[in-house]
Amino acid sequence: MAPSPAPYRVLARKYRPTDFTGLIGQEALVRTLSNAFASGRIAHAFMLTGVRGVGKTTTARIIARALNCIGPDGRRTEPTIQPCGVCEPCVSISESRNVDVQEMDAASRTGIDDIREIIEGVRYAPVAARYKVYIIDEVHMLSKQAFNGLLKTLEEPPPHVKFVFATTEIRKVPVTVLSRCQRFDLRRIDSEELAQYLAALAEKEDVKIEQAALALIARAAEGSARDSLSLLDQAIAHTGDEGDIITAAAVRAMLGLADRGRVLDIFEKLMGADVPAALAELKDLYDAGADPLAVVQDLLETVHFLTRLKVAPGAQGFFDGGSGEAGRAAALAAQLSVAALTRAWQILMKGLFEVRDATRPILACEMVLIRLAYGAELPPTGKLVKDLLDGGAAPLPRGAASPSAPSPRGPAASMSASGVRAAQPAVLPQEAPTARVRSLEDIAALAAANNAPILRVALENYVHLVHLEPGRIEFCPHARAPRTLAGDLAQKLKDWTGMRWSVSIASQGGAPTLAEQKQAAKTARFESAAQEPMVRAVLDRFPGAEIVSVRDIAREDITPAMPDGDGDSESETGH
Ligand SMILES: [Zn+2]
Repeated sequence: MAPSPAPYRVLARKYRPTDFTGLIGQEALVRTLSNAFASGRIAHAFMLTGVRGVGKTTTARIIARALNCIGPDGRRTEPTIQPCGVCEPCVSISESRNVDVQEMDAASRTGIDDIREIIEGVRYAPVAARYKVYIIDEVHMLSKQAFNGLLKTLEEPPPHVKFVFATTEIRKVPVTVLSRCQRFDLRRIDSEELAQYLAALAEKEDVKIEQAALALIARAAEGSARDSLSLLDQAIAHTGDEGDIITAAAVRAMLGLADRGRVLDIFEKLMGADVPAALAELKDLYDAGADPLAVVQDLLETVHFLTRLKVAPGAQGFFDGGSGEAGRAAALAAQLSVAALTRAWQILMKGLFEVRDATRPILACEMVLIRLAYGAELPPTGKLVKDLLDGGAAPLPRGAASPSAPSPRGPAASMSASGVRAAQPAVLPQEAPTARVRSLEDIAALAAANNAPILRVALENYVHLVHLEPGRIEFCPHARAPRTLAGDLAQKLKDWTGMRWSVSIASQGGAPTLAEQKQAAKTARFESAAQEPMVRAVLDRFPGAEIVSVRDIAREDITPAMPDGDGDSESETGH
């Protein structure tokens, strides 16, 4: 970020709280401590927990000052909840140079020897202060031995010693230690509260800034007052001239955030399976400076918000109530199923890491969007595969697909509903730009539906599938495969699905071809039939007899076999 041209305005330092009144959002802690100080029942040990940036270390130092403040006139004899900030102990503690207040980071000093040093020191009275205060940060990092050593001291601490522990991972602190501490959970500061705090501060500093800009900063700071102050500092530095108003757009650009309304546009288009439009939107955002990672994060927040709307209509959050976006979000939430939203969440979560680790995040981001469009409405892959392997007899569960998706999205659903074996043109419209392709069977079915029998036969007999995902297929061709197979397939897939496909050839490996799989299934069927006692009896009785067909009688009683030409009906008559 740009360096601040106004160094006197380092808000984060200027407004670092030095007493409890400056600690915003931690009222519970302040109330409890106030009561304890007032009644003279001050615990021997405090445990401060909370995520990074909520002010644990700051609070620990304020506690140390509260315990040791002697007042401006040096006459105070009791701890106070309102340390003066000017007496020698107050000043030296906030500058981390008070001999009686020791700060230690357990992350770097975890061993028993480090703790032994403390245990030894505990026996001696403070040099100058009222209390010896040991502040141990990240206390959960201490070794087991170190905890045990500490425990003895905690059980019977000398009256002049206080411990203040801080940790981000309270679960890793032994219960034996926890039970001897007064525990405070420092909470993340609510973004609304943080925005109010920033607004008051901006007014005090005579900084003009839009309310929406403050809201953006507060949200980006994720509950940390310190982070919000440094962001505000940066925003001030970013806005060239003194007196200019800091706009939400400027802050958004500074934070690399995408416009929320446009993120919603993208999500709407993806759920409507309009991939080209969604990708075009993404490109616009990217060209305007949006960070692809931030786009995925915003999409995640969008999905989270929509899901919340689903379970609790009227929920507030990512899209501000009353705004146009909020209304659109509500409409979108009504259209999508919880299953679809959950799946979108999973795809985006996975995509988040891919985009973060990608050498070219924008490409990874595009792939995530495409996957989202093609995957969000599908039932879980395992279920889909099973349906297809089962011959697609089981209808697609209604709940899995969006009952009212905003645009026609037939292919995947109708494919598994009608059964891939008997894929008929009637249920696979030729104009299926958003056909979702998940398996080789799907592609063969597409070929059948689009009147490409030669390619279909090739797909069934000559393709040893290595890998398949929307937009990419890799296979090892059978020795007899036509040379043009890969090229033909790429062209046809593009025509049928409306998206570019990369078709690559592997020199070996891959799954058995569809025909081989079918043959194997048939053989298995014959073998199991041959084990039937009646059949065995017949075969034994008539040497030279062989099984030429296995029919599912119960089924054919109901629906007589249809002539179906493509030779893959379950029943087979001997030739
Ligand atoms: Zn003081």
